[in-house]
Amino acid sequence: MSSFPGVVKVDDKTGRYIEATRDIKAGELIITEEALVTGPSGDPAPHKICLGCYKVITGEPVDCSVCKWPMCSEKCEKILQHAKFECKVFKNAGLKPTTDPMDYLGIKVLRCLLLKEVSAKKYEQLIKLESHLKKGPKIASKEICEFIHKRCNQKAFDTGAVNQMAGIVAINSFGTSDRLSLVDAPRMASLLFFNASMMSHDCTPNTSWVRVENSDNTFSIKVWATVPIKKGEQITTQYLDLTRGTIERRAHLIELYLFPCSCKRCTDPTELGTNYSSVKCSKCPPGKGYLSSTEPLKGADAMWQCDVCGGQQLYRECSVGIECQIVSEIQQAESEEDLEKVLESHEGVTVHPNHYLMMDARQEIVKRLYNTIATIAEIPKRVERAKKMVVLVKSLLAVTEKFYPGKNKIKARLTYYLQYAESCTQGDGPNVEERLEKIEEIIRKGDEMLIFEP
Ligand SMILES: [Zn+2]
Ligand SMILES: [Zn+2]
Ligand SMILES: [Zn+2]
Ligand SMILES: [Zn+2]
Repeated sequence: MSSFPGVVKVDDKTGRYIEATRDIKAGELIITEEALVTGPSGDPAPHKICLGCYKVITGEPVDCSVCKWPMCSEKCEKILQHAKFECKVFKNAGLKPTTDPMDYLGIKVLRCLLLKEVSAKKYEQLIKLESHLKKGPKIASKEICEFIHKRCNQKAFDTGAVNQMAGIVAINSFGTSDRLSLVDAPRMASLLFFNASMMSHDCTPNTSWVRVENSDNTFSIKVWATVPIKKGEQITTQYLDLTRGTIERRAHLIELYLFPCSCKRCTDPTELGTNYSSVKCSKCPPGKGYLSSTEPLKGADAMWQCDVCGGQQLYRECSVGIECQIVSEIQQAESEEDLEKVLESHEGVTVHPNHYLMMDARQEIVKRLYNTIATIAEIPKRVERAKKMVVLVKSLLAVTEKFYPGKNKIKARLTYYLQYAESCTQGDGPNVEERLEKIEEIIRKGDEMLIFEP
């Protein structure tokens, strides 16, 4: 890799971002760096997470011989991120282990504060990251202050410093799981980087990244350009799941990152021609006429308009009710057949076939097919299910291509689903044990391969 082709700039509205200092080719590796801080990610449900390697502890834990917090093995208590950071603090404060996600967040913030003692150089970089402290105390949390000051007895860090770090953690962390992942959160780790964390958000990002686990239990990140990036353009990533429609996506960006996105996708009523949020016009004939927002940046207050008859309705009148109904139908669906019924009764009938909730239903069916196909003994039936899976994955890929052009890990996973389904249409499906090993390997190596492919 040649030197980093970007420079950090500041904008009053969006905060810090990275601008390309030269033209960057699609597929070019642009950032490789080690994490400044690694910590447990406490979402979403309470878990016992090993503070050494971030695995969820499912069996009998081994207590750390110093602080008594649960570890997955004796080896893990010696891992520096635990031993050099909170371990002694916990011992001195007599802090009892918990599984509260809020406490794991507190541990991450504590590690950031303690970094000053462990590595002054990394700490200098860490405090350069955006905290949005000036935008108000929204991110700062009473619980985190209480965790650090009272429960960990670390009174030397004043409230301002704790708030700044809580802001940095909230805004700049890279998580480890995503909705399309085949293996759920293999490591509950959350990572902070210097350059990678400076990237700004775009709902059609021009990079993709993978997290690399190093042999000494530290983590690195590799970021590559998914499309050509011109000199002067921002180098962007996504801060959150891009599988939601514009209204929900923008609301989350504002709530979590204090950032009202106005990217190309957010300002386009059709979300780059996908009709990802569009609902069916009740006045137009079946299969024709969909309502989309006339002013996407106005959110839930905008008027929506039919692309065929021009009829207008408020978002609350035409979309909210039907979306709630579909969400509850998907949640209640127990079987693949139930999910297929949701698709049948809504795609092109109440919402556009590409509507994000239809994508959710397809995604759910694909996951279930993936888990069951190999166990279907009857070959014609198995082939029939596999063919269905091929059609569904292709439709997911078509939309994903619009939001994630170029080579990226989301498409790599879908492509794997597709290859798997196609191989099952041959009749003699892969055997189940081999399959599980293969998934792990594809996730680990498949993503890496993406980077080094020409
Ligand atoms: Zn461990
Ligand atoms: Zn310990
Ligand atoms: Zn956007
Ligand atoms: Zn109409």
